[in-house]
Parts: sequence; C-alpha cells; structure tokens
Amino acid sequence: MNHKSCFNDIKRPIVIAGPCSAESEEQTLQTAHTLAKHGIKIFRAGIWKPRTRPDSFEGVGTPGLAWLGRVKNETGMLIATEVANSKHVQQAVEAGVDILWIGARTTVNPFAVQEISEALKGLDITVLVKNPVSPDIDLWVGALERLNRAGISRLGAIHRGFSVHGDTVYRNPPHWQIAIDLKTRMPDLTVLTDPSHIAGNKNMVYSLSQESMDLQFDGLMIESHISPESALTDSKQQITPDDLSAILKKLILRAPDSADRAYHCTLDEMRAQVDVLDKEIVGRLARRMRISEEMGLIKKKSNVAILQPSRWEQIAQELSSYGMTQGLSSEFMSKLLSAIHEESIEHQNIVMNKPSEKK
Ligand code: PEP
Ligand code: MN
Repeated sequence: MNHKSCFNDIKRPIVIAGPCSAESEEQTLQTAHTLAKHGIKIFRAGIWKPRTRPDSFEGVGTPGLAWLGRVKNETGMLIATEVANSKHVQQAVEAGVDILWIGARTTVNPFAVQEISEALKGLDITVLVKNPVSPDIDLWVGALERLNRAGISRLGAIHRGFSVHGDTVYRNPPHWQIAIDLKTRMPDLTVLTDPSHIAGNKNMVYSLSQESMDLQFDGLMIESHISPESALTDSKQQITPDDLSAILKKLILRAPDSADRAYHCTLDEMRAQVDVLDKEIVGRLARRMRISEEMGLIKKKSNVAILQPSRWEQIAQELSSYGMTQGLSSEFMSKLLSAIHEESIEHQNIVMNKPSEKK
C-alpha cells in the first residue's frame, strides 16, 4: 500500500475530541470553544449517526455541517465527521470537513466502503477507518486497501473495540493484539484508540488511554460534550472538555526504548526466562494433548462419546478458581480453558474418527 502517516505536524498523542453527535449549534460551538481553549487541535462530531435500533436520534444531518464550518473558522481546529455513503462524502467535502472517518458498522460492509472510496477518488483528504464490529483484521485491512486504491494516501485506523455477546466490563472489548497486528502489517499507518467506545462509560477512559499510550499507539479519539448528562447519544461515556484536559495532563508518555545498558541486560535476562517458560508451556500442552489422544482411543474401544460435559464443567471451575488464586483473571482463565478444551476435543476426534488403515 502506498500510504503516508497522517498528522505529521501534530505531536503524539494525536487527540481528536468532540461530542458523539452534533446536537445543536450552541452545544457544538460551546464544546468546540472549550476544547480549543484546552489545546485540542482536531474536533469530531457525528452528523449522521448509525444507530443500532430505529427510533433513536439519528443525527442532525446536513444542517450540522455549517456548525462544523463555524467551529473551523472560529477556533482554527481541524474538523472530522463520520461518513457512511457517497452522499455523506460529497456533502462533508463540500462543507470543508478535513478528516473523514468510517464507522465500525460501515467497515464491515465492503459494498459501502467501495462506494465511499469511489466518491473520494481524486480528493486529497485524510480518512480514518474504525475497526469492523467483528474481530476480523482482513476486513479492516480490506477497507484501508479500497481507500488506498482510490488514491487516498493519508490513511489512519481507529481501534474502538469489538462487539461481543453477553456482559463484559467494556461496551466493546478491546483486542489490542488485532490493533498491534495491523500496525505490524502497516508500520507507517497512524493507529488511534477510541477509549470512549471501548469503555462505554466515563470511568475507564483514562486507564484505557494510558494503556493505549503504553502500547505505543499514536493517539486517541475521545468523546467530549459540554454537558454529557444531557447528550442525545452515548451520554454515559462522554466527558466534559475540562475532564478530558485533566486526563490528557495525567497521561504518562513512556519512551519506546532506552539507551541504558543496565536496563537492556536486566530485560534480556527476564525475556530469556519468559522464553523458557513459554516453551515449557507449549511442550506441556503438547504432552497433555497426546494423553487426550490416548483417552480418545480408550473411549473408542469402549464405544463412549468424546465429551462428558459434567466432568469438563467441574474441571473448568476448579482450574479457574485455582488460576484466580494465582493472580490470573477469570476472563483469561476462561479463554485459556476453552482453548485447551477445544484442542483436546479435536485431538480425541482425530483418533476416534480416523478411518482405520487398510491392511
Ligand atoms: C462514533 O464515533 O460516534 C461512532 C458511532 O463510532 P463507532 O463506529 O465506533 O460505533
Ligand atoms: Mn458515540
């Protein structure tokens, strides 16, 4: 891909802040002026809102573009909004919007991304692509490639977490590894984190922002509203410009590396220990799976099914509690145990259902 990093002239962390939705001219301008006073350089506001359910506020639409225009003229901030089709692109570009982003619900749809890409042909504009709602890195990369093929070279990505079924502490749990893999595949790509949509509440915005900086991401998109309690969308996760400024001041930016030799020696030693342990874990898992295969053969001889659910539930519970007494999170234990169980079933399945070799 032929792309360059966007926001060259803005120091890390790049911060894009503003309300989930532009709701009124007054709310948009008051939020923008207060953010500008706190040194924010890029203002976001949703004009067309992709809502999960009908009958929710779907954004003010076209009239809101003029409010963004006023923000740009009066504060000098760059302005950013979400586009989901060619009509949005055309209107946003005409209104002088500097940065467009593609939302998570649009990135999943290659038809929509293609339509947006074609509408953008020949334009010199920055486009940010949020991760798709499902944890599929290829859909994310595919959207970036479609835009790039349409001649958009100032591209970036935003990690806003992924949808899951059931309750978690997050609204959209992060998959840091997917965002890290994206950065590995496209080292020059600017990758931001959206702690607001990951968290779904105000309380985790700071810790997620710090985590994101510690993982060396380039910046943050944070929802900020002059009066979050009365926001028409995402009210629980928006923070005031003052709170945003306090969070940004608290962030610690750690260096990606150090020139100190003692630091490297200590770290190398510890890495060597970790490497040995990781190998040992894999070796032991392999040994465990060989025993699973032997069990599979015994079950086959006695004509017993692979799965005895009650036994597995009991082991999983015991191991999970043990893991937690050892300082491992219940979320991690649950993922680890499911992975081991699935692999074990697979190994038993292979030996039980392998066609017997002909003599
Ligand atoms: C938003 O940024 O307000 C938004 C709708 O985001 P996402 O596409 O991540 O849900
Ligand atoms: Mn939002």
